[in-house]
Amino acid sequence: MECDKVGDMILTSTFAIAFTGAGISTASGIPDFRGPNGLWKKYSPELATIDYFNKDPKGFWEFYSLRMRGLFTALPNKAHYALAELEKLGLIKAIITQNIDGLHQLAGSKNVIELHGTMRKCYCVRCLKTYDSQQILKRIDEGELPPKCECGGVIRPDVVLFGEPVYNISEAIQIARESDLVLSIGSSLTVYPANLIPLTVKENGGKLIILNAEETPLDSIADIVVRERVEEFLPCVVNYIKNQTLHR
Ligand code: NAD
Repeated sequence: MECDKVGDMILTSTFAIAFTGAGISTASGIPDFRGPNGLWKKYSPELATIDYFNKDPKGFWEFYSLRMRGLFTALPNKAHYALAELEKLGLIKAIITQNIDGLHQLAGSKNVIELHGTMRKCYCVRCLKTYDSQQILKRIDEGELPPKCECGGVIRPDVVLFGEPVYNISEAIQIARESDLVLSIGSSLTVYPANLIPLTVKENGGKLIILNAEETPLDSIADIVVRERVEEFLPCVVNYIKNQTLHR
């Protein structure tokens, strides 16, 4: 069984990390970008660019507030909880995520590095004051579009828009260099530079496990590729690991 193989690889690793993408949150009701029901099948990716935000902050927020609302009704699923449990068992040292939904932290994961920011926070582009996104959504509901700071600056979500540099990449690459095993979970592995994380682990002699419903450009260099739904596969890995440790 593949979940036994993956479980054994995690048990024999010394510094395993997880690299997660939008596919880990689809079972929580948040659409991914490029999967069969992805956001870009319905909307243009141009709506999430920094150029569009600067040109038309009202239009940007009309689209983005819809996305944010979907996020606040979402709860972690079995895949998020499985990763939190692996961290508690001391078997996963860090989660490097491309997601902006905050569901790893809600599931109890502690060491989470967010490369693309978080939709849970906003900030003013002029004075950098931060705001809770739910308060901003309330103000948008009351007709404030685009939402503005008391200093007059426009408020934006604390996420990396297309055309902007990612957050925390040096720290993430450093962790990847130390890692001897990376589980890439629910990512199309097409977004640069985030996809350098699994590549860096591999280039430094570590192993790469890809758990994704569809093909990825790194499948050919992976040690194992699993095409199952991550919310079914990861709990199975955790069960296997718990049974193994009980019988030792
Ligand atoms: P992506 O949309 O490019 O790829 C997601 C992959 O997950 C697809 O290949 C799809 O086949 C697979 N997938 C979907 N559901 C799955 C499941 N249940 N089990 C197994 N595989 C499944 O996503 P990505 O690689 O993370 O691309 C990057 C961008 O998407 C990032 O910039 C990220 O910020 C953004 N994003 C984040 C969220 C979120 O925070 N939840 C949602 C949409 C997009």
